[in-house]
Amino acid sequence: MLVNGAVVAGKGASTVKGRSAEEFEQIRVILQGRFEELDREYEEAVAQNTRLRLVEIGDAAGDDQADSGSKTAERDAATSLLRTLLDRRTQAEHALQRLDDGTYGNCEGCSKPIPVERLEVFPSATTCVNCKQVRERRAS
Ligand SMILES: [Zn+2]
Repeated sequence: MLVNGAVVAGKGASTVKGRSAEEFEQIRVILQGRFEELDREYEEAVAQNTRLRLVEIGDAAGDDQADSGSKTAERDAATSLLRTLLDRRTQAEHALQRLDDGTYGNCEGCSKPIPVERLEVFPSATTCVNCKQVRERRAS
């Protein structure tokens, strides 16, 4: 297949290189599991958030200032948890899409394959440890 060959020789070459089919399968299983786990956690957090709001509406009339303050804090924490979970779930989803595209697991910085050991711990990682450190140093 000449056409495919040309594609692989282009940007895809570094993607395929250094990664076996078994590794890809291993990564897919990890990502899929992570996504499902986050999906469940997110659904739970949504339900929890809804309960919190319902309680709040029911209680609001009789609250003094301190009570409503701690409830606001509780609600803020729940909201930020929701946001975090949604972010992670989206990251895992993107990672799965990139895996299908054949672009997953390569560093966005240096385009070398990210070690499977790193992906196992951080399936949503888009950079290798070196490039991440460089980015963080730049950001701070
Ligand atoms: Zn890198």
